[in-house]
Amino acid sequence: MPVPGSQQDFVFDHEAALQQVDQLGRRVVVLDVVGHIEAIGLGELLARQQVEVTVVTPFPLPVCLDRETLGYALPRAVQAGMRWRPNTALAAIGAHAVTLVDVLSRQTETLGGIDSVVIRTHGVADAGLYFALQGHVAELLRVGDAVAVRTADRAIFDGHMAGRGL
Ligand SMILES: Cc1cc2nc3c(=O)[nH]c(=O)nc-3n(C[C@H](O)[C@H](O)[C@H](O)COP(=O)(O)OP(=O)(O)OC[C@H]3O[C@@H](n4cnc5c(N)ncnc54)[C@H](O)[C@@H]3O)c2cc1C
Repeated sequence: MPVPGSQQDFVFDHEAALQQVDQLGRRVVVLDVVGHIEAIGLGELLARQQVEVTVVTPFPLPVCLDRETLGYALPRAVQAGMRWRPNTALAAIGAHAVTLVDVLSRQTETLGGIDSVVIRTHGVADAGLYFALQGHVAELLRVGDAVAVRTADRAIFDGHMAGRGL
């Protein structure tokens, strides 16, 4: 993952974090470098469990979210107790501490006592099944997140086009 220090055992991607929400600890920092729903969704989930959760993002807003979802989801997460830190980069992860940088002022800040760091970044396609079947079946199509990790509408479109091609 694209942050120095992210190889440590208390740093997770958002999917791994979701599978162990109860074990992330009392103080969690989530980095969102995509700007969709996952980071603020996890932030709200943790905040509702009384976890002290801070979501940092270099963006001014979750820029990939549609406006209707954004206008509902972000206030809901913040009202649940999630700390929202836009315009903030996560420069490095130390020993249960993170170095944050305000992308406008360039001022740095260290947050300590962090139990877990979660990084929401772009995913890698899981196309193992596609490659395992290649050469063994008469017709094989690669669709959806097996091509590239995107959103559900892209997978539905790929599936639709595959269906029309039958
Ligand atoms: C936390 C999270 C939140 C998201 N929120 C949104 C959102 O709000 N809006 C949106 O549009 N998109 C969202 N997405 C993205 C969306 O879920 C995906 O783009 C979409 O599910 C892709 O569909 P798919 O059918 O290509 O793959 P999947 O839905 O991943 O389906 C692939 C299936 O294949 C199975 N599989 C994989 N390998 C094998 C194998 N070797 N053998 C057998 N089975 C196998 C998997 O178990 C899985 O069930 C989100 C994703 C995540 C992770």
